[in-house]
Order: sequence, then C-alpha cells, then structure tokens
Amino acid sequence: MTHTPVRDRLVDLRRELHRYPEPAWREFYTTCRLAEEVEGIGVDRLHLGRAAMDPTERLAVPSSADIAAWRDRAREDGAREDLLDALDDCTGALAVLDRGEGPTVALRVDIDGLLRDESTDETHRPAAEGFRSRRDGAMHACGHDAHATIGLGVLEAVAESDFSGTFKVFFQPAEEKAGGGRPMAKSEHVADVDYLFAVHVGLDHPTGEVVAGIVEPLAVSNLGVTFRGESSHAGLAPNEGRNAMQALGTAIQNVYAIPRHADGATRVNVGRVEGGTASNVTAERIEAEAEVRGETTALMEYMKTEFERAVRAAADAHRCDAEVTVEGQAPRADSDPALAALVGEAARSHSAVDRVVDDAPFGASEDGTYLMRAVQERGGLATYAIVGTDHPTGHHTATFDIDESTLPTAVEVLTDAILTAAARDPLGRAGGGSASTGGADST
Ligand SMILES: [Zn+2]
Ligand SMILES: [Zn+2]
Repeated sequence: MTHTPVRDRLVDLRRELHRYPEPAWREFYTTCRLAEEVEGIGVDRLHLGRAAMDPTERLAVPSSADIAAWRDRAREDGAREDLLDALDDCTGALAVLDRGEGPTVALRVDIDGLLRDESTDETHRPAAEGFRSRRDGAMHACGHDAHATIGLGVLEAVAESDFSGTFKVFFQPAEEKAGGGRPMAKSEHVADVDYLFAVHVGLDHPTGEVVAGIVEPLAVSNLGVTFRGESSHAGLAPNEGRNAMQALGTAIQNVYAIPRHADGATRVNVGRVEGGTASNVTAERIEAEAEVRGETTALMEYMKTEFERAVRAAADAHRCDAEVTVEGQAPRADSDPALAALVGEAARSHSAVDRVVDDAPFGASEDGTYLMRAVQERGGLATYAIVGTDHPTGHHTATFDIDESTLPTAVEVLTDAILTAAARDPLGRAGGGSASTGGADST
C-alpha cells in the first residue's frame, strides 16, 4: 500500500472529517480514520478508546444506545472493523513516538463535532464544494476537523525529523461537552509529559495571526439538574401534588441571584429546561441544563456550591427532591510564557504569519486545561496556542468554516515549536536532552 504523506493531503483529510462530524464520545468514524492515518505514519504505540485515558473519569457520556447508534453509523460509512472492535464503546486515541533520550513532548488536539445542523446555502463553501456534513443534525462548527488534521500533520513531521525523546499526540474526544479532558489528564499517559502544546484555530483571530499562549480561560462546570415531585390533579387536588415546576421557577430566580464574588468574574446560566405533563397536572419531574463559570477554578467552585445550595433550597421549599450532577468540567489554566515563547519564535520565522500575539485572554472555556494543569502540577510547562484563520461566521454557527491555508501553517509552526522544545529542553529534567542552540527550523 502506498501512503501519500499527510502533508500533501491536509485539505482532503480535513474535508473528509468535516463530512463525518460526530458529537462527544461518539467520534467512532473519526477515531478510526485517525488511527488508520497514524498507522500509515508509523508510530511505536497507539492507544485507542479506553486505553488512551482513565475511562472512569469521563464526563458527559451519552446513553449506551446513543453510543451504539453512532458506532453503527461509523461502520456503515466504512470505519475499519478491527479498529471499531479495539475502540469498543469509547472514542479517542493517543499516538506515541519513542525516539530515544530526551524530554516527553505532547500535543493535544480535540476531535469532536457539535449537535447542530450545517447550512445548505451555496455561499457556504462546504455546501458549494460538496463536503458538507453527511450526518443530519451534526456539524464540525468549531474547527475540530482542522485540529485532528493538524495533529496528524504534526505527528508525521515529528516522526520524519531528528526529534529525540518521546512525542505524544492526544486526540481528545468530547471537548464541546468538557467531558474528555479530565479522563485523558487523569491517565498515566500525562504523568511523564514535560512540555504540552494545545491548539485552536480561529476564535476571531484572522489568517496570518498566531497567539503563542492563551491566558485567563474561564473555569466551567456544566450541571444537570433534576427536580422530582409528585403529580396530582391541578383542579381537584393541587395540595396533594409536589410541584417540580414551582421548584424549578424558584431555583432559576435564585441561582441568578447568587452574590457576585469580590475575587473576580463569575457566570451562571440556566440554558435548557424540559418537563411537566399537561396544563392540568402538577409537574412531577423537571430537568434542566445549566452552567457556572469563574475566572479561577476556586470562583467556579464557589458558584457551583452556591448553585447547588439554591437548587436544594428551592426543591425543599416546594417539597420536592433535587439532584445536581456535573456533566462536564474544565479548570482554569494559563499558558506558561517560557513555552509560549517557543510558539512565538516559530510563528515569527514562518512566512505565512504576519502577526504574533504573545498572550491573549481566551474568554470562553476549554477542557484542554485539565491536561495543562496535570502537566503544570508536576513541574512541566504547557501552552495553548491559537492559529488564526479567517472564518466567515462565528464558531458554532451553521455557516462556520475555516481558511484551509491555516492547516500547513499550523502544522509547521507547531512542529517547529515542538522540535525546539525537545532540543533545548528548557527544564532540563530529561537528563539526556542536549542544550542545542536553535532547534529545528521548518520554514
Ligand atoms: Zn466549540
Ligand atoms: Zn473548539
């Protein structure tokens, strides 16, 4: 089998992944295709599904019926049977290159799509050029198709280089639900990582711009709320009911009334509710989806504690029971300037980059921060870079798209930074790392 290099197929690969968007924990087609490409590149180890993480730490895992349906769809679309078997019921992958003495460097990319429809408008390039989503109700509307492709491109470039050390690419599932970062971060695979790079495209940064390291992402917790009461006839015996609708109404008012915190920014939102039976029945069950955020992990935890208290008090006031579950979570983590500097250096020497921003606030949330924190807490360094791309509309919209010229730029800048991190080994922990002068230049 001849294998055309990934670097010559970046656009094709991105478009193929774009056709098959899969939401959190249902990335079976995507993971199988990534695994095939990783095999083609040739690595020393490839961990699939549960073996790529600590599966007990997963968040936002859908029902097994839902998982099975998407797995079947992947099979119908041609995902390789032996790879589907290896994945079992869990998506995601970790590719490892063991290349002798030197530090352990890692790249984390996310691979999931979103549950939303993609535009059919002819002005939307994926529709006009035939690579629009083939999965009704799902779309790569955040650029994670590009991230997965970039991960492959960097893996191939590092594999073909004189890199010395260990290199890992984490293909992380379920970022959009903040569910996949924690299980990968809690696995043994992160324990030896000295330098971690993560990347996102776009985020309102145009083509030609690179942010070397984001700072100040909001810590976030996605919360599921269930109120349980008891139904009764709303006319004949309202007093015999326990009204979950009332509990919800009271809770919504009070979670938005949680006092602001003196230490910094906080957020709360109740975004979706579902429940009740009919206008003449006391509601016995209501479910809600909500989130809290904070400028720091501690502020997020404050909001979560107060949120739970308000919900329980509201349930109590209306003689109902309430349950709050954490459906997804991400701590705050800031890029380390020493590692971000290597991204900045690589970007400045790249001909397609005309503006380098050393650091920029993230504004949103991102569960790659779990991996960043895991590395930083063990004394390693982490940076989360943004490679700008012109996107016609905002992330998560039906007409989101990327400028594909960003793909090779991102691969080359990240590869350059990764090779430099390994060659210079600024922490000097690996012992074998040679203090070389310039590292490799990929331009
Ligand atoms: Zn997103
Ligand atoms: Zn994203």
